[in-house]
Amino acid sequence: MHEMHITGVKIAYYYICHTKLWLFSHDITMERENENVELGRFLHESSYSGHKEVNIGDISIDFVRHGEKIEVHEIKKSRSMEMAHIMQVVYYLYYLKRRGIEAKGIIDYPKMRKRKEIELTEEYEKETEKAMQEIERINSGPMPKPRRKKICEKCAYYEFCFGGDEE
Ligand code: SF4
Repeated sequence: MHEMHITGVKIAYYYICHTKLWLFSHDITMERENENVELGRFLHESSYSGHKEVNIGDISIDFVRHGEKIEVHEIKKSRSMEMAHIMQVVYYLYYLKRRGIEAKGIIDYPKMRKRKEIELTEEYEKETEKAMQEIERINSGPMPKPRRKKICEKCAYYEFCFGGDEE
């Protein structure tokens, strides 16, 4: 399993949009980041100032705190893409487990003052392996055709995907 080229963001994009995953994986980034990215950055800085991002190999985690168990935290602004966020954190737990580190995950929603705890179950491990195989398959093929959905208007790739389309 070549998980070395897979990051938490790619896992999340796999659940959000395969075109987005493919573009991001091929280093195609938009010059002007959209407001959501800016808001995410603001939330990170204002709610959690003092905590640093931690890099372990290919993965980058918002912060890690030592309680009874190591906690992997991911900060999100809303629950609108919860499945993608859960699987992003699950991937971090999976990645760490394979390096001998037992951890639990927490998704923090500071705007809603909520948090969700995530443990790495057997089902999550199987789902992660399936996602990793699918990511490799998608990224080694041609760009998946963009399909318009609710989240497209807030996506940084919107103009790339639909810029020439007539409404
Ligand atoms: S605009 Fe829509 S189809 Fe295009 S990458 Fe973003 S989410 Fe995917």
